[in-house]
Amino acid sequence: MGPHRPPDILRKSHAHSDGKSRARGKRELREDLDASMAGSADHRAVLIDLDGVVCRGDELIMGAAETVRWLKDEGIAHLLVTNTMSMSREALVAKLAGFGMEIAVNDIQAPPDAAAAWLAAEGCRRLLLAVPNGMAGAFTEFETQTLDEVIDHQQALGQGGASPVVDAVVIGDIGSDWNFAGSNAAFRCLKQDPAPRLIALGVTPYWNARDGLRFDVAPFVVALARASGVEPCILGKPAPAFFEAALRRLEVSADDTSMIGDDIRADVAGAQAAGLKGILVKTGKYQSGDLAIGIEPELVIDTIADLPRFWPKGASS
Ligand SMILES: [Mg+2]
Repeated sequence: MGPHRPPDILRKSHAHSDGKSRARGKRELREDLDASMAGSADHRAVLIDLDGVVCRGDELIMGAAETVRWLKDEGIAHLLVTNTMSMSREALVAKLAGFGMEIAVNDIQAPPDAAAAWLAAEGCRRLLLAVPNGMAGAFTEFETQTLDEVIDHQQALGQGGASPVVDAVVIGDIGSDWNFAGSNAAFRCLKQDPAPRLIALGVTPYWNARDGLRFDVAPFVVALARASGVEPCILGKPAPAFFEAALRRLEVSADDTSMIGDDIRADVAGAQAAGLKGILVKTGKYQSGDLAIGIEPELVIDTIADLPRFWPKGASS
């Protein structure tokens, strides 16, 4: 370690070859996190991935509830962020309550509410909403039309099929509700001039259903983007817009915020690309090879239970 220590502390954490250097490494990690996180002390914030960091399936990860309580007690701004869309935020709150965690709906950001916040901030008002029924509730503040309504409208207009004017086309995983008529109706909306935004709730290409692999949201978004020439904006990790929505909600800047996650690509690299600091935990989907792929978290800790110990001294307000 020369006098010009890189602010990125993972470089030191690579030196953990024996017990002694691990102890030394941890102290240096702490000092470097202090250094790399120095700045305005009253705007320190952390985004916390849910699955693999706080819980794993139906099990709470040890120390997670205590760490979230510690963040509250210390007055450190925090938000649980997840790409999960199989459960509503209300259902997630109930699940966490079952673990003894008192979390409010607004303490969680999932793709639908991130998209709603992002669209509102961008001044979008009229939406074509192609999302599962359970997700439509996140968009009640907008004027929305379903694919069926747009198809009817286009048919009523007859040949040429002009589209109802929308500011954004929002695509979620509607599975077998996709058909040619619906896809084409969304495509026609995207060909308006000026083109509306194309919003993707996640980028998952496929999933493993009981009867085998199934298309998720990404293939439909790619098809619409390819046909229309409209670049999609993805509201889900690792896309920058998802992190920006979280920062806006907490009213903090990227500089002052860390993201803690178990997915070195979606959580750590995604956060870093948006200007945040990335903290990797060795729970959930973490694998030992993750640290050899060229992504360098600002901090690596065993579990979220270690966060208070490594949080910069005097950082909380
Ligand atoms: Mg995760």
